[in-house]
Amino acid sequence: LDEEIRRIPSADAVHLDVMDNHFVPNLTIGLPVVESIRANHPGTFLDAHLMITDADRHAPAYAEIGCESVTFHLEASAAPIRTARAIRALGAKASVGLRPQTPIEPLADIITEFDMVLIMTVDPGFGGQSFLTSMLPKIRRTRDIVQRSGADIWIQVDGGVSESTIDQCLDAGADVFVAGSAVFRGEDPDAVVRGLRDRPGTPCRH
Ligand code: ZN
Repeated sequence: LDEEIRRIPSADAVHLDVMDNHFVPNLTIGLPVVESIRANHPGTFLDAHLMITDADRHAPAYAEIGCESVTFHLEASAAPIRTARAIRALGAKASVGLRPQTPIEPLADIITEFDMVLIMTVDPGFGGQSFLTSMLPKIRRTRDIVQRSGADIWIQVDGGVSESTIDQCLDAGADVFVAGSAVFRGEDPDAVVRGLRDRPGTPCRH
């Protein structure tokens, strides 16, 4: 993992998919590995994406070990406001993730509790899946809700983001783009990162 991270110096952040084989049918890394990535990459913005059950219990620990942003899933949280506040109190950005079938509307009144909303554009659990264009209206509705709130809340898309899908996400109102397979399957991952970021007409919000 350290070597892979060193191959993408142009990336704005490193997105870490934590999976527990319960919330999703796959098992990846957990707290100790994220902690050692933190230690080995002190200047890197670490964006932890927790696809785990019982998020309220486990999410704050990722802020405590120094991740800059911690995303937990709404579907795995009984107390999303309390958990977001705990993450923020530890100095990290609090982010809420939504599976494709979870609507954004129930979050409208509490959207300012979060610094970022992660819209999954595939079913979470595995890399290499195709981008769901059916998520574009949800990204637009999320942008509307964020705009109405007046707060600076990032909208992240995760799943199937590539050179051929990123512009649609951007047009719909997303401003943080997670790319896995598109970046790492090629010979030069950093060139892909630069190509994804330097799109013609890309607004620079952050
Ligand atoms: Zn992710």
